[in-house]
Amino acid sequence: MTLTRKQLLKAMAGAGAAVIVTPQAHASGSRVIERDVCVIGGGASGSYAAVRLRDLGRSVVLVERKGRLGGHTETFHDPVTGGTVDVGVAGYHDIPLVRHHFGRFDVPLQFSRTDPSTIRFADHRTGLPVDNYRMPPVSRLSEYANVLEQYPYLEDGPDLPDPVPAELVAPFTDLMAKHGFADLAPFLYLVSQGRSDLFDLPALYEMKYLNGPAVHAMLTGTTVTTSRRNNSELYEKITTFLGDDVLLNATLTGVSRDRAGVRVLLRTPHGPATIRARRLVVTVPPPLAGLDMDSTERALFSRFSPGGYYTSVLRLPGVPQVPIQNVSADASRQHMPSMPGMYLLAATGIPEIFIAYYGSSRPQPETRVRADILGALGRLQSTGVLPTTQPRFEMFASHAPFLLSVSGRDIADGFYRRLSALQGRRNTFYTGAAFHTNDSTLLWRFTESLLPRI
Ligand SMILES: Cc1cc2nc3c(=O)[nH]c(=O)nc-3n(C[C@H](O)[C@H](O)[C@H](O)COP(=O)(O)OP(=O)(O)OC[C@H]3O[C@@H](n4cnc5c(N)ncnc54)[C@H](O)[C@@H]3O)c2cc1C
Repeated sequence: MTLTRKQLLKAMAGAGAAVIVTPQAHASGSRVIERDVCVIGGGASGSYAAVRLRDLGRSVVLVERKGRLGGHTETFHDPVTGGTVDVGVAGYHDIPLVRHHFGRFDVPLQFSRTDPSTIRFADHRTGLPVDNYRMPPVSRLSEYANVLEQYPYLEDGPDLPDPVPAELVAPFTDLMAKHGFADLAPFLYLVSQGRSDLFDLPALYEMKYLNGPAVHAMLTGTTVTTSRRNNSELYEKITTFLGDDVLLNATLTGVSRDRAGVRVLLRTPHGPATIRARRLVVTVPPPLAGLDMDSTERALFSRFSPGGYYTSVLRLPGVPQVPIQNVSADASRQHMPSMPGMYLLAATGIPEIFIAYYGSSRPQPETRVRADILGALGRLQSTGVLPTTQPRFEMFASHAPFLLSVSGRDIADGFYRRLSALQGRRNTFYTGAAFHTNDSTLLWRFTESLLPRI
């Protein structure tokens, strides 16, 4: 079918100014979107990449499978009090890039302070309080920071020296024993998000996550968060800013790449779409389903093992707003909690509302996570640590796959060198937590460093 010029203009107007509808696309029922860059995944990394590429004069389209941008950033709105609390990404480092990114979208920031002295400790296996445990002073972290200083490149991205220093490849528990940090274990667990096998993983992962800027922020109390306790506001404003250049609720059905560029096939709520772009930026945890991987990509991505991480908002009527951390009563094991399980029941400041943080070394079924949380709450009630209450889940979020890791042997064999070498290959660039670390600030910095190449 050949369209008249009038029909073509009408079709373009209907599809929105930013979408180019070609006659062929119209004929096959699939709209065609032509851009310089197609970004896959609208979490911290993908949203940032799309905004900044646009700043730099590139035309972009951002593809997100959910109905909103933000990824691990999620905010609970309490229907009873109207209060809000961030249930996912909470804090950022106070660096100019962060101030500028929030500032341009008119999302004010403030320092976020938590007082560890308010935390109660209980063993969730028994429900009993652990009154003999004392959190080590945060100042002990400065000794850990001295060790970090030997590895400044960990903040920058996946690139590592060759050979990779043995201390980074060995389990983190060895590093803790060597430098006398064993007593920090429950504290590190509290601030290190979900992976219950953190101490058995190569030290690289914890040292990239609990990085120099993160430790500095903890020591100086300069972590920042949004003043309105709503980190999702940033992503709502980015959605508006990008307008027609964001495709939400989009299901990717195939990606093919050749010398000329990239072709991405999608199902969207407005029908099928084909994106033609010169470059692809992948920000989702690999492997991206539908990507036409070659043997190099397949061999690398298949090495990753994912962990599980789950957050739930619980309504606990009659329970005072006191956080309860899960620690073992066993001092000979540095009070490490038994996992998988809930490692923190966090107070939110909103009456009756708590966040349960649940960690696991591998993804778990939602039914198991919910049952474990309810089991722990029941035990804490049976011992009187919590008053009797009828818990209700207000929200449940799976963050799996979380913290994709490879073995120490793979790291020593140059896994991250080969991963880095994928940048630019087959018109494809990568950013996101699997390529760096689970830290929005550092991911934005890393993404920024990639932009000139894209
Ligand atoms: C509970 C929790 C709390 C955290 N707290 C903090 C914190 O306080 N500070 C901090 O800096 N970091 C925190 N993090 C770490 C967080 O992982 C990173 O900061 C950052 O959000 C990771 O961004 P990302 O872009 O790599 O991934 P994500 O945020 O996971 O974004 C990936 C996006 O890709 C989408 N997607 C996946 N597959 C597809 C597909 N096939 N097609 C299209 N889209 C797809 C997903 O829906 C998602 O929106 C936290 C993480 C969790 C889970």
